[in-house]
Amino acid sequence: MTKIICSPGSYIQGPGELKKLAGYYSLLGSKGAYLIVDAFILKTYKDEIISSFEAENIPYSINEFGGECSMREIRKHVENMGEYDAVFGIGGGKTLDTAKGVGICYGSSPCIIVPTAASTDAPCSRLSVLYTEDHAFDQYMPLHRNPDMVIVDTDVIAKAPVRFLMAGIGDAFATYFEAAACEKKNAVTMTGGHCTKGGMALAKLCLDTLYEDGLKAKAAVQRQVSTKALENVIEANTYLSGVGFESGGLAAAHAIHNGLTNLEETHHLLHGEKVAFGALTQLVLENRSAEEIEKAVRFLKACDLPVTLGDLNLADADDAKLMIAAESACAPDDTMGNMPFEVTPADILAAMKATDQIAKQY
Ligand SMILES: [Zn+2]
Repeated sequence: MTKIICSPGSYIQGPGELKKLAGYYSLLGSKGAYLIVDAFILKTYKDEIISSFEAENIPYSINEFGGECSMREIRKHVENMGEYDAVFGIGGGKTLDTAKGVGICYGSSPCIIVPTAASTDAPCSRLSVLYTEDHAFDQYMPLHRNPDMVIVDTDVIAKAPVRFLMAGIGDAFATYFEAAACEKKNAVTMTGGHCTKGGMALAKLCLDTLYEDGLKAKAAVQRQVSTKALENVIEANTYLSGVGFESGGLAAAHAIHNGLTNLEETHHLLHGEKVAFGALTQLVLENRSAEEIEKAVRFLKACDLPVTLGDLNLADADDAKLMIAAESACAPDDTMGNMPFEVTPADILAAMKATDQIAKQY
């Protein structure tokens, strides 16, 4: 049996890292850096981003992210990149996935990922998630290698909206449960191999870190300061969850997320917010212990993450509507098949409604 664990070439986390990008670029390229940057981040942090390139006289090209990680957006940047020999993605998950598509899938250039919020576990993985122009889940785009570097500036994360950090906790919360399901099923993970002890250990450490430091980190970001707890949660959301999901595998939680993206009512929600509900639904689907489910509901609620259908803007949704999400979650090319028992759309519908009812009790 082949076992595989994948990770980025380097994971770098600390205060003030945004002002050091040119130094890291110099380790990987020489002709100039192609930067894809979120519009808001460009407005707020342009001086910090370009300061080291200016100081070290390294050519760079700044390009605003178009707003959706789609095939069209990726192709646009591949065409624009020209002679630049490394691509940076600076911003949220979709910007980073776009940069990975540009650098790794089409350009074969070194790829440096700079998340400006700890809102998803996308930064470290060898995977981009593509969406349609209408913001519905399109497909997973597997890449042949992980990013060369992932650089996280903790000062920037501390000043990002608290909702982003909480969404990252929602995404990271699912990691252990999905990896555990995959291990039980002996499923092939996102790496194309089976899970290692290392992958499982990181996934478990991710969950333990969230339960221990999640709410302390929330408090830190509410006051826009960086603390040890915030540093721990940034690492959990970004690295532990990133390597954990990729090398541990995805299962029901993300499949339910993908199903929910078909319902327009949920389009205002962040990835990790929908994953949080997906994770809770997976626990109900697995019939985990009452204590474990109560602990999860109370924690996710305290993180302001969705635990009921009402929280997902689906309070008025009838069974036919919920069934659209449930059926999509069970699509053969999604990860529901990694659950260690057979799951039908009717099982998902029942678990979503039961989750809603249980969560209302706490
Ligand atoms: Zn995710």
